[in-house]
Amino acid sequence: MAERRIIYMDHAATTFTRPDVVSAMLPYFTEHFGNPSSVYSIARVTKEAIERSRIQVATALGAEQDEIYFTGGGTESDNWAIKGVALANRKRGNHIITSKIEHHAVLHSCQFLEKEGFEVTYLPVDRNGMVSPEDLEKAITDRTILVTIMYANNEIGTIEPIAELGAIARKHNVYFHTDAVQAIGSVPIDVKAQNIDLLSLSAHKFYGPKGIGALYIKKGVRIENLLHGGGQEKRRRAGTENIPGIVGLGRAIELATADIPGHSARVAAMRDRLVTGILEKIPYARINGHPEKRLPGNINISFEFIEGESILIWLDDVGICASTGSACTSGSLEPSHVLLATGLPVEISHGSLRLTLGDANKPGDVDVILDVLPKVVSKLREMSPLHQKTEKDRRCDV
Ligand SMILES: *Cc1c(COP(=O)(O)O)cnc(C)c1O
Repeated sequence: MAERRIIYMDHAATTFTRPDVVSAMLPYFTEHFGNPSSVYSIARVTKEAIERSRIQVATALGAEQDEIYFTGGGTESDNWAIKGVALANRKRGNHIITSKIEHHAVLHSCQFLEKEGFEVTYLPVDRNGMVSPEDLEKAITDRTILVTIMYANNEIGTIEPIAELGAIARKHNVYFHTDAVQAIGSVPIDVKAQNIDLLSLSAHKFYGPKGIGALYIKKGVRIENLLHGGGQEKRRRAGTENIPGIVGLGRAIELATADIPGHSARVAAMRDRLVTGILEKIPYARINGHPEKRLPGNINISFEFIEGESILIWLDDVGICASTGSACTSGSLEPSHVLLATGLPVEISHGSLRLTLGDANKPGDVDVILDVLPKVVSKLREMSPLHQKTEKDRRCDV
């Protein structure tokens, strides 16, 4: 049977691993398998590979080599940054500031800390998903120890004013963490210029392997360990290193940051043609997120009168991979906390679709979606009693 061509438009959920990255990793499974904590020379090879990768990550962020720590992914980096700073600074204060639109790795870490006696302020966002620097400044008290605001949102693609938020935190002597998992490769990052004290990233969101990430910790930041055990990662993150993963992360971040403007322009061109076409062909549709300050590959769109989940099933039927929002919300009937925070009414947020473009896409994919999606939406609307009633009412109005 001929293999069906898949159109992958879910790059915010994960990406394929670049063949170049896989090639870089392979020798570290078979030939160079030594435990870097051992003394013999085959171990030295793996130790050197870790440090090369650390330099690659540091270079991509404008950080120093010894400010990069490898973790098991974005979730661990977020947990470590938030719980680690909270525990190490609890004598100074117990107040943390975040936003309502964070990834669950951040929100659930904050909720965990609330049970442990910390107080958390969840900043609102405007209708485009933007956090206001003035709101942040007003929320800071003399008990505040950490501000954690994501760099770019995984559902609606909005890019937050990170340098400005970081400057406010610094002015008040409060640590500033950002979850930059969605931003790497799409936005240039400079942790020094942007006043960032801690930054989370994850390789599988920029064409690297899954299960490996990093946390940037600025020199001098007081942070407690999350994992206790051996002395790896300068005694800060115990556990034998995931060498192939670390090597893959280093190569992937090097490739992802080599030509950010070129990559962004290519992806945004496909994205813009898709958005224009959808809005032309499908009535009662609206784009969520910021009109300009958004990730180049992100489209989040709401279609009135229908369910996002039903759209996904029909798209999957013809080999199109998309999402309704965050992978964690998919499968449940909970409306997206991000869309609700932007003020979108519950019933409209149920009809939302996220298409995230990237290197798995060719311009021809846009044409396929523009052919299929209008048919799917109109078919579902034909079955929707709400849509029929509204159409009838609108006809009677004129
Ligand atoms: C994917 C993602 C995470 C989690 O990263 P994992 O490596 O999958 O644990 C955290 N934050 C954001 C914004 C993400 O998109």
